[in-house]
Amino acid sequence: MTKVGFIGLGIMGGPMAANLVKAGFEVTGYNRSRAGVDRLVAAGGRGANSVGQAVRDADAVITMLPDSPDVRAVVLGEDGVLAHAREGALLIDCSTIRPDVSREVGQAAAAKGIQALDAPVSGGEQGAIEGNLSIMVGGAAEAFETAREMFDVVGATIVHVGGPGAGQTVKAANQLIVAGTIELVAESLVFLEAHGVDTGAAIEVLAGGLAGNRILDRKAPAMVRREFTPGFRVELHHKDLGIVLQAAREAGVVIPLGAAVAQLMAALEAQGHGALDHGALLKLVEQLSGRGQE
Ligand code: NAD
Repeated sequence: MTKVGFIGLGIMGGPMAANLVKAGFEVTGYNRSRAGVDRLVAAGGRGANSVGQAVRDADAVITMLPDSPDVRAVVLGEDGVLAHAREGALLIDCSTIRPDVSREVGQAAAAKGIQALDAPVSGGEQGAIEGNLSIMVGGAAEAFETAREMFDVVGATIVHVGGPGAGQTVKAANQLIVAGTIELVAESLVFLEAHGVDTGAAIEVLAGGLAGNRILDRKAPAMVRREFTPGFRVELHHKDLGIVLQAAREAGVVIPLGAAVAQLMAALEAQGHGALDHGALLKLVEQLSGRGQE
């Protein structure tokens, strides 16, 4: 597989597509706004003016779009991927969407002779730039093997977790853990500041003990500086916690802490902070503690 059509060149898709170019793939990209396409062209890729133009000659089509309705529109739509991709092509959806929508997309693709994988990722913008994302893949084992050479370029931990939709279910669990951890890190930072402790020193020692985690390593310093440039937007995490709550309900499982964090993320979104990084959960902890700056 050498020719890749890439749809969705945003915070994540942009650097992923650029890394594929660097690794020698012939990448043709399309994005709704032109800036993403221009960045890909500057990185050595080709620009397309439509989904059809991006995918017509592709061996593999990768989508990295915000939400379930976007993937439905881009893949299943009248002028979408399935209308233009050639039979035998491979569709890899890296967006985080509802598991049932992934299965629907997989079935529609199969009907056109196109194999599909759901392959959501974790690792954030930094992981996308460095090419060391974690990729949780659902779909047929054979399609996974075919996609492996592309996954190896954009990811470091790549695991086939099951059949269609399974990648999305694992990603939902990922988002539950990340949101809960950010909330606890935010609470810890506000708590430490209230006691006048040097948060830099605290982060350093906490990171080496049992409390150590990637949020502490990667996000806490920016949270201390009140820098909430995304990264991962609150509105996207709000979407993901909706997926988690629905999937938990379907399975008859209760996630009390997850439900509480989902409400906090919803509050942040309702307050107009949807475009901030999810580390902005710290703002809410401050507000609830009467220590907010606004
Ligand atoms: P983003 O908004 O930066 O990028 C999405 C891109 O898709 C945008 O450039 C937008 O113009 C484009 N787009 C939207 N609709 C389109 C359409 N119909 N046709 C063509 N292009 C279209 O979002 P992102 O942060 O890159 O996230 C993408 C997906 O990856 C989401 O599902 C998100 O939940 C997931 N994700 C994000 C991160 C992160 O840290 N940002 C980490 C892991 C997973």
